[in-house]
Amino acid sequence: TSHVQEEKQELLEKDRQYLWHHISPHNENPIIFEKGQGSRVTDIDGNEYLDAMSGLWCVNVGHGRETIAEAAMMQMKKLGYVPLSNSHAPAVNLAEALNDWLVEDYRFFFSNSGSDANEVAFKMARQYHQQKGTYGKYKILSRYRAYHGNSMGAMGATGQASRKLKYEPAGEGFKHVPPPYCYRCPFGKEPNSCSLECASAIENMIEWEGEASVAAVIVEPVITGGGMIVPPDGYLQELRAICDRHDVLLIVDEVICGFGRSGEPFGHRNFDVIPDIVTMAKGITSAYAPLSATAVRQEIYEVFKQKEATSHFRHVNTFGGNPVSCAVALENLAIIEEEKLVEEASDMGAFLAEELSVLWEFPVVGDIRTFGLMAGIELVEDRESKTPLAVEKMNQLLAFCREKGVIAGKNGDTVPGFQNVLTLAPPFIITKDEIRQILAVFKEALAGVTA
Ligand code: PMP
Repeated sequence: TSHVQEEKQELLEKDRQYLWHHISPHNENPIIFEKGQGSRVTDIDGNEYLDAMSGLWCVNVGHGRETIAEAAMMQMKKLGYVPLSNSHAPAVNLAEALNDWLVEDYRFFFSNSGSDANEVAFKMARQYHQQKGTYGKYKILSRYRAYHGNSMGAMGATGQASRKLKYEPAGEGFKHVPPPYCYRCPFGKEPNSCSLECASAIENMIEWEGEASVAAVIVEPVITGGGMIVPPDGYLQELRAICDRHDVLLIVDEVICGFGRSGEPFGHRNFDVIPDIVTMAKGITSAYAPLSATAVRQEIYEVFKQKEATSHFRHVNTFGGNPVSCAVALENLAIIEEEKLVEEASDMGAFLAEELSVLWEFPVVGDIRTFGLMAGIELVEDRESKTPLAVEKMNQLLAFCREKGVIAGKNGDTVPGFQNVLTLAPPFIITKDEIRQILAVFKEALAGVTA
């Protein structure tokens, strides 16, 4: 063990000298993860943690999957890389397999990350209107609190000031509408007596900006990173109708909600809508390899299909759809199918939703929202005022969970002060017993928070 301690100290020193971490570059005390198996990850000291966050990381099939490692190795030995200007079996087979996850027929453009997939969607949406001979439709509408990625366009679509303030101007032409946030309705309404003002706001914006200038609307089925915001009944269906009325494409970002997380193959399938474009990323490989896809309805592809070079979609992407990532994705999808993990996520999600109700005994719990095997527990200083729980208290709470061997998350950070949604999204293979263990730790943690 003294050898392990030495190695750990050395790693920590080099980490502090050479690594620039995501989110906090000054992470003085990172966990040094070493291995993972199933729902658990282990650090260099041998401490085990229940991975209650893999849902946002999207390690949906769990850690340590041998057959995924084998698929990657076999493909690397056979053919490690060629670009997709020509073709190869893993990409073709993957595109066909992905089509079965969707309701209508789609065509797939591969890239590397969720941000990439959304950039591709925005460029396609703009070009699509031009291909049809309609010029000037370029604006992309999204919601405040949404996260759609970190590159300039995807950051433009992101509706969280804290992620943009230091980096603007982002891509041009991105506009935001208020989110469908029933707990703090931006229109002062109550969920059961409202008229979906949150959906009408999108139509108003299209009209006020001028329909002739709007290319697309992008939404997640539920806003995940921005606070697990679940829309009221009928919202997404209404949005579909609004887009149809104004010749605006509906892009659905399934980077987190896709591949079974919602209890359905894709999140939007809970609402019976057919998106024009679906973007997907980490869940495609359960995050074992970088890969993303932009799925486009065949009829949209058709308008790009003329022979003139001007109709070509210009977006070369070196690693997009590389054979190794595609082979990993194929094995990941095979596991989900063989082990019936979408059904499993649905069952475990229902169990989780039931069990979560015990948390209402804690006065800091303001709202509990679930979507499939994913939950957001909005914490407040007091239920009347709904003042978000102080960030320091959130941090203490997460540190406590970590001490007790549970990796949970917090999100909601659109404006300073709003990091008050405790998030939980375990792998699909989590057991009821493990869910109970996580909730037992949450209970202890919540009991320790004094509002
Ligand atoms: N869209 C959503 C909904 C996301 O949650 C994320 C990242 N978590 C992205 C896009 C961006 O994905 P990436 O980090 O792979 O660029």
